[in-house]
Amino acid sequence: MKILLATEKPFAAEAVKGIEQIASAAGHTVVRLEKYTDRQQLLDAVSDAEALIIRSDKVTADVVAAAPLLKIVVRAGAGYDNVDLAACSAQGIVVMNTPGQNSNAVAELAIGMMVFMARNQFSPGTGTELKGKTLGIHAYGNVGRLVALLAKGFGMNVIAFDPFVNSAAMEVDGVERVETIEALYSRSNYVSLHIPATPETRGSIGASLLGSMPKGGTLVNTARKEVIDEAGLAQILSERPDLKYATDIAADTQNELNEKFGTRVFATAKKMGAETAEANVNAGLAAATQIVDFFATGNTKFQVNK
Ligand code: NAD
Repeated sequence: MKILLATEKPFAAEAVKGIEQIASAAGHTVVRLEKYTDRQQLLDAVSDAEALIIRSDKVTADVVAAAPLLKIVVRAGAGYDNVDLAACSAQGIVVMNTPGQNSNAVAELAIGMMVFMARNQFSPGTGTELKGKTLGIHAYGNVGRLVALLAKGFGMNVIAFDPFVNSAAMEVDGVERVETIEALYSRSNYVSLHIPATPETRGSIGASLLGSMPKGGTLVNTARKEVIDEAGLAQILSERPDLKYATDIAADTQNELNEKFGTRVFATAKKMGAETAEANVNAGLAAATQIVDFFATGNTKFQVNK
């Protein structure tokens, strides 16, 4: 089978090597399309591919239509909002992600961003400590849970909101489950955001939630920019000069935010939560293994378009 590895932002070399080894050991061939600059290159490359591994690359309906042999798409990472699931399902294509494989990288970045904001972006002057502050984890999935565990090491009081995770699963981590999103924000000095971008969550974090945070409240977003109501964010940052916002996914209006709010806002230059050598290798190898297993045994454990 031909496995297309289409990565606009390539994997680390070690991850590519591992993917190729796993594929070739099972009799498959990996074709690489890296750093492509034109969508047409992807449309051409996918035309005879039976499997596709991507990162943040967009698999839209035109890509699916250009791939008559495609059986499986694996998004090497957690979020799969870059894949048109309906188009894939309509063509009988299985879509998978690789849950948990990059979570530690993202969790470490979230904690790092909290320290960075608490210390005024490492500029001279008096900052604050994380110890003793309340951290609200918004969505207790793979990343959220690891952030909670790291934060406990900093001596933070950790609470979490996730309607799909029960309190027993949080209690074993020493984390208090709160029943409402409003309670999470109104009690948290820091909120770490880990919700997926879905029709329900898009634009769901705005002025009223952020405005309910205690004095000096800081929102750290390593999830998706789409979940933020950017107009609401700008409004509340104007009304509440004590609030801060740090994100790994620059807002569409990031330049304006930076100009208006200076060091109270921060965005990484490029999404980098999963950009560690370790996460690259974990996610890449998991993607290759899942494809090999799918063709060998029909295993669809990580399918997200069931
Ligand atoms: P995950 O699937 O393990 O966890 C997502 C959690 O969100 C689940 O526990 C689910 O119950 C919860 N959830 C879903 N809808 C919710 C809602 N409306 N309210 C509250 N909770 C809700 O995913 P993860 O690995 O923890 O990753 C979380 C998100 O982070 C991903 O969807 C992705 O968008 C983003 N991400 C970003 C980077 C990066 O590079 N910055 C890397 C990996 C993941």
